[in-house]
Amino acid sequence: MLTLSRISRSYGDTVALDGVDFVVPDDTYMSLLGASGSGKTTLLRLIAGFEEPDHGEISIHQTRIDGQAPHLRDIGFVFQNFALFPHLSVADNVAFGLRYRANKALNNDTEIKDRTQEALVLVGLDGFGHRGVSAISGGQRQRVALARTLVCEPRIVLLDEPLGALDANLRARMCDELRAIRQRLGVSFLHVTGSETEALTMGDEVAVLANGRITQSDTPDTLFSQPRTAEAARHMNAWNTFDGTLCDGMSVKGEIAVRFDQMDVSAQGRAPKDHLRVHAQYLTGEFNGPTALSFFRAADGTLLQIIDHLSQPRLPDLIEGQHYDLHFPSNALRQFHGAV
Ligand code: ADP
Ligand code: MG
Repeated sequence: MLTLSRISRSYGDTVALDGVDFVVPDDTYMSLLGASGSGKTTLLRLIAGFEEPDHGEISIHQTRIDGQAPHLRDIGFVFQNFALFPHLSVADNVAFGLRYRANKALNNDTEIKDRTQEALVLVGLDGFGHRGVSAISGGQRQRVALARTLVCEPRIVLLDEPLGALDANLRARMCDELRAIRQRLGVSFLHVTGSETEALTMGDEVAVLANGRITQSDTPDTLFSQPRTAEAARHMNAWNTFDGTLCDGMSVKGEIAVRFDQMDVSAQGRAPKDHLRVHAQYLTGEFNGPTALSFFRAADGTLLQIIDHLSQPRLPDLIEGQHYDLHFPSNALRQFHGAV
């Protein structure tokens, strides 16, 4: 178990992390979801030991690791841009760490070869060892980067936006494979990403990093259906978050959230009386095949979206620029207490 307690890190006036409490359990695929600039890479660098926190503690199995040299921590790091050695073959890239690492370096060629081969098989690159890394695809380079990390048998693997550089098809396939590889190894993966879909698909658990803290860490299902903070809800496209005072029909204070499939649209003044209402102007629609999204702007400028499914169309014909009542039953409402 990896534990971060009250971790803070600033760069000059920029507060990157502001008291992070975070637990990555053993044998778990943990996703960390955060916007660009939210401190994801900083968090990984602190865990790996490339930097030290200003405050707080980092432990693995109750043993402090902050302050330890990176090579003594047994932590694997897959960098955002893979960072392979371009002049080395696939196998030599993978073997590099075993041969030259500062701690527990190997010099027995047979052992190095065997372990390299094992790692290549694990990531599905059996038979590619002799290739140059410039002669393989982006997805294969990603696997080399992963193999190079796994060959050293780290206690935990940190992956910094590992799928960002891949095209959509490949990304979906790598998602499945990363999960399968992790399961075979039984080692925890901490995968940071700015993509909600990626975080929810990959993670056994998903943590949301916002305002320098972990605002919620839960199973994907719980996070998605029951965001506990406005910040968590804001990281999920399906939730409209807005100020409660925009609602007619009930006095609601503070920031609230309603899922985009639980809101309906009617002409002004025609919403069911027992529903809460938000007046908004229809901006435009986006047709995605099986679903269609309609975008509205509320009086205070907040953007709201409603989804319609092909099989159960609910929305009336909408005219751009026209004002409507968006409405929903009170049980669709999520209110946040002591929100961030
Ligand atoms: P993310 O990986 O989520 O995009 P980062 O951890 O890279 O975010 O950055 C978090 C914040 O810290 C950003 O505002 C970034 O500009 C700042 N930051 C990160 N590293 C440095 C650094 N070495 N020097 C100055 N500012 C930095
Ligand atoms: Mg980053």
